[in-house]
Amino acid sequence: MRYISTRGQAPALSFEEVVLTGMASDGGLYVPETVPQLSKEELADMAGCSYAEIAFRVMKPFVNGEIDDDTFRGLVKDAYATFSHDAVVPLNQLDANHFLLELFHGPTLAFKDVALQLLGRVLDHFLNKRGERAVIMGATSGDTGSAAIEGCRHCDNLDIFILHPHNRVSEVQRRQMTTVLADNVFNVAIEGNFDDAQAMVKASFANQDFLNGTRLVAVNSINWARIMAQIVYYVASAVAVGAPHREVSFSVPSANFGNVFAGYMAYQMGLPVKQFIIATNANDILHRTLAANDFSKQELAATLAPSMDIVVSSNFERLLFDAYERDGHAVAALLERFQEEPTALAEAPVAKLREKFASHSVDDATILEVIREAHHRTQEVLDPHTATGYRAAERARADAATPMITLATAHPAKFAEAVVKAGFPGVPLPPHMDDLLEREERYTVLPAELDAVQRFVAEQRR
Ligand SMILES: *Cc1c(COP(=O)(O)O)cnc(C)c1O
Repeated sequence: MRYISTRGQAPALSFEEVVLTGMASDGGLYVPETVPQLSKEELADMAGCSYAEIAFRVMKPFVNGEIDDDTFRGLVKDAYATFSHDAVVPLNQLDANHFLLELFHGPTLAFKDVALQLLGRVLDHFLNKRGERAVIMGATSGDTGSAAIEGCRHCDNLDIFILHPHNRVSEVQRRQMTTVLADNVFNVAIEGNFDDAQAMVKASFANQDFLNGTRLVAVNSINWARIMAQIVYYVASAVAVGAPHREVSFSVPSANFGNVFAGYMAYQMGLPVKQFIIATNANDILHRTLAANDFSKQELAATLAPSMDIVVSSNFERLLFDAYERDGHAVAALLERFQEEPTALAEAPVAKLREKFASHSVDDATILEVIREAHHRTQEVLDPHTATGYRAAERARADAATPMITLATAHPAKFAEAVVKAGFPGVPLPPHMDDLLEREERYTVLPAELDAVQRFVAEQRR
């Protein structure tokens, strides 16, 4: 198994190399050269297996023997032992044929834990083997930073620096990052906005001289291992509702498209999926592209589902590569045009996408209405991201007979603002976090200046 770039100009890499590399040198993203197949028998055999066992079986071909089976099994088991529910990602049946896949039982209460708990361990394993250390840098407006910190806090070979905009993340989100007091965790509050933080991280990846040769690793969703880990819950949940003997559909609250792309990989591996529904908030580039072939940037809107507030969906490129029959030149040309001006996909690729994908966009007022309505019908309090998926599942599903699985991407306690706005008294944090607001915090405030940030990273790393 080798990994190739969506723009066709970068060298093919092994699994180990692709995990330790972020973006391809040609600006593209890495995808597997061939998609491993899960036979009907292999899928049927997963019924009744633990989540960790299914995870091992689904991911093994991507790892390609580069981690021996026993070691990899151990990493997977440890990663998912951090989840507070024995099923790791339990399915919650809402009505006769609509299920919620609860992806929020990890340490930081959002689905990003599923991938980052594993990624930290896989990175540490490879670095240990190579006798190297690495530095992780990331910018966050919320969920990714805390999940990355939780995923790396026990990794001896990694130092992690997460930049967040000072005074512009919610208290719960900040504290989920700043109360992790491990020696290898560095929280930096930037006196600027998220874009300032993001720009400094990008500049640091572009020129890594300030680290004197130490590797800088990306843990954002362009890292292939994150996609790989997310394929697993599509397979596990589908098998739980009857795959491979019947088809299932998924509704996915989407932003950078990493989550739903992982579902598409599961489908390509042989999982019988009838339909993927892409749910967006008011930042609806994915919906406009699918529904109207309007592939253009629009100004960022701050919504009640902030983890889905994006202008560009970076992982959509991976799907485009497939839609364009793996023609890297065509993908590169399209994305260059897209950077300059509003554009559209060619007819054949857009038709191909519409065979499997539908989409629906949900504005803030509707998010509040859905939280109330879903509670009235099912007694569940949905978080605002999950609410977009719930509504999209109802509005865009192809048929009522196919089981619909809506991905619940965050715990409602993490996004209390929307829940309270919807008229609920708030949702308590789960027991393991109920003293979060009293815990000691540690972070460093720095100006939004590249030099200051890079000096801090260079000095503090161990
Ligand atoms: C990151 C995130 C999303 C969007 O996921 P993508 O993989 O970027 O499409 C949705 N909901 C929540 C709660 C998130 O944290």
